[in-house]
Amino acid sequence: MKFSQTFIPTLREVPGDAVIASHQLMFRAGMIRKLSNGLFAYLPLGLRSFRKVERIVREEMNAIGSLEIKSTVIVPGELWKESGRWDSMGESLLRLKNRLGSDFVVSPTAEEAVTSIVRDELSSYRQLPLSLYQINTKYRDEIRPRYGVMRGREFTMKDAYSFHASEENLDKHYQAQGRAYRRIFERCGLTVIPVRADSGAMGGSGSEEFMVESEIGDNTLLLCKNCGYSANVEKAECKPDFTPLSQVQTAASHILPVEKIDTPEIKTIEELCAFLKTDAKNLIKTLIYKAINVELDLSSAPGCKTLIKRKAAPGAPACYGEAFFAVAIRGDLDVNEVKLAAVLKAAEVNLAADTDVDRITGAPVGFAGPVGLDTVPVIIDQTITGMNDAVTGALEKDKHYRHVSYGRDFSAWFTADIRTVKAGDRCQACGGELYEKKGNELGHIFKLGKKYTQSMGVSYLDENGKSQMPLMGCYGIGLDRTLASIIEEHHDEQGIIWPMSTAPYHAIIIPIKYQGQVQEACDKLVSELEQAGVEVLLDDRNERAGIKFNDADLLGIPWRIVAGDKNLAAGMVEVKQRSEKEARLIPLTRTAAEIAGAVSDALQLQPNGKDQR
Ligand code: ATP
Ligand code: MG
Repeated sequence: MKFSQTFIPTLREVPGDAVIASHQLMFRAGMIRKLSNGLFAYLPLGLRSFRKVERIVREEMNAIGSLEIKSTVIVPGELWKESGRWDSMGESLLRLKNRLGSDFVVSPTAEEAVTSIVRDELSSYRQLPLSLYQINTKYRDEIRPRYGVMRGREFTMKDAYSFHASEENLDKHYQAQGRAYRRIFERCGLTVIPVRADSGAMGGSGSEEFMVESEIGDNTLLLCKNCGYSANVEKAECKPDFTPLSQVQTAASHILPVEKIDTPEIKTIEELCAFLKTDAKNLIKTLIYKAINVELDLSSAPGCKTLIKRKAAPGAPACYGEAFFAVAIRGDLDVNEVKLAAVLKAAEVNLAADTDVDRITGAPVGFAGPVGLDTVPVIIDQTITGMNDAVTGALEKDKHYRHVSYGRDFSAWFTADIRTVKAGDRCQACGGELYEKKGNELGHIFKLGKKYTQSMGVSYLDENGKSQMPLMGCYGIGLDRTLASIIEEHHDEQGIIWPMSTAPYHAIIIPIKYQGQVQEACDKLVSELEQAGVEVLLDDRNERAGIKFNDADLLGIPWRIVAGDKNLAAGMVEVKQRSEKEARLIPLTRTAAEIAGAVSDALQLQPNGKDQR
C-alpha cells in the first residue's frame, strides 16, 4: 500500500483531552478520530490493527469450540424486562422506542439476547454443552468516558455465553475460556494479571478478571509477594490479624464494665484516638448503610418487621426495595462495599444520609455504635469478634462508651468478612505480604449459574426426561481496550512500537526520494515482500526524509527499510527494527527473504498452543 493512496492523517500536536499515551498516539498516528465524547471512528491504519486483535480473539474462541454468531445490537426491551435488568441497569443502559412505541435497548452486553435465542431452540440434554460468541458493538452510556477507546461509550466486545447441564461441565468450559484468554493476551504481546473477582449479587460461583497494570487503572489489585495469590480489592481476602475472643483465655475479672464518657466536639476517628490517647485498632467504627434491592431474608432481622419482599420486575428475584444496616468494623479498617453488597445480596449499598443516621441511631453522625442499637440489623466484620476493652459511639451526641467487649456488651445479627484488604496485610493463602497495583480490566470470565436461565425460563429435558435448567457462563473481552493497552505497553517518546501480531503493517519502506532507480527498487521490493506474505507500507510521499522517519517512528511499524541513491549504488538498503536503535545495511537482493523470515518468526504463536511452546 502506498502512503499517498491511503488515509493516515498524522499529527504533531497532542489533542488537549488526550492524557494517556495510547490515546495520544492513536490520534497522532491517524488511527482514530473522535465524533463525540466516548464515540470514536477507526481510520484505515487503526482498523488494520483492530482487525488483527479481532482475528486473534476469533481464532482462540474457535479453538476451544465456541461457535461464532452475530446477534443484533438493538434488542427488544421485553427481554431486559424479563431478566429484571431493564430496571436494575440504571442510566448506563440506553433505552429507545421505535415508531410503534415499542421499547428497545442498545446492547451493553448480550446475556438476554443469547439466552432468548437458546431458550427457543433448547429441548434436550443432547444439545449441551453449547458455547456461543460474537464480536459485536456494545453501547454503555458511561458517565465519564475517558482515555480514548479505553473507556468509550460505544465499543466492541467479544462476548461468549455458554450453557451446561452440570457444574463440572461449566467449570471445564470456564477453565478453557481462561486458558484462551491467557493465549489471546500473550499473542497480543500483553502482560496480564489474572485476578479473582467479585461475583457479587449475580450469585455466580466464580469470576476472574484479566488486568493489565496501569497508572490510570480503575481497579486496585492485591498481589502476594510470595505465592501466586492475586485478587481485585473488591474480592481480596487476607489472613485474620486478630484472635476471636472465644479463643482467648480472658480472666473475666479484669475486664472492666462499660463506661459512658464525654467526648465533646470529637467527630473523627483521628480526633477520638488523640483525645483518648489510644490506637484506632481499639475503636469500633460503626457506619449506617442503605442497601438497595436486598435479596437476603430479613424476616428475623431487628427493625425489619415492616419490610416486605417484592419482585422488582416479573423475572427478577424477590427483594426488599431498600433496607438500612449498621456495619461495625475495627477502627483502623475500611468497609469494602462490594463485599458488603455481596453478603447482603444487594444490588448496591451506600452510606446512609445524615438524617437517616440521626433517625436510626438517635444521634448525629459520629456517635453510632453497636451497644444497645436495635433499630436496624447490626452486621460486624469478623475483626470485631476479637475486640474487648474497645471504644465505640454511645448513640448520643458527644458521648462514647469505653471498655466495650464483643459478646458481653453486644452481639451481631451476622458476622462476615467485609474489610478492605490493604498493602501490608498478610496473604490468606501463604501468609506472605500483600502489595497493591493499579489495574485496567481487559477481560472478565464469569460463572453465572442459573441467574438468566431461571429469570428467563430456559429448560431442557435430561436423560430421564425430567425438566432441568441449564447453568450459564459468560466471558467478555473489550477489543478496543485491548488494542489501546497494547500501545500502552509498547511505545516510547517517538511513538508506537507494535508487536508483530497486531502491527498495522509488518514493514515500511522509505525511499529518500521516490524517483528514478530508487522508485524502481522500492516498487520491486514491495512486490517481493508482498509475495512472501509481508504487509508493506511504501512511504511514497514527496516529503523530507526527516518527516518520513518521524512518521515511521510514530506509526510504530516493526521493520523500516530505507532506500537512497547512495546505498543503492552499492546494492544495499538500510534496515532497522522499530524496537532497536541501530540500523544496518544489507544487500537489496536479500532484503525480502530476510524481512519475510523475521516476520514469520515473530508470528509463531499459533491458536490453542499449537505452536512449539
Ligand atoms: P469496567 O469495570 O471497566 O467498566 P466492566 O466490568 O463493566 O468494565 P464487563 O461488563 O466485564 O466490563 O465487560 C467486559 C469487557 O468489556 C471489559 O473487561 C472491558 O475490556 C470491556 N469494556 C467494558 N466497558 C468498556 C468501555 N466503556 N469501553 C471500552 N471497553 C469496555
Ligand atoms: Mg467486568
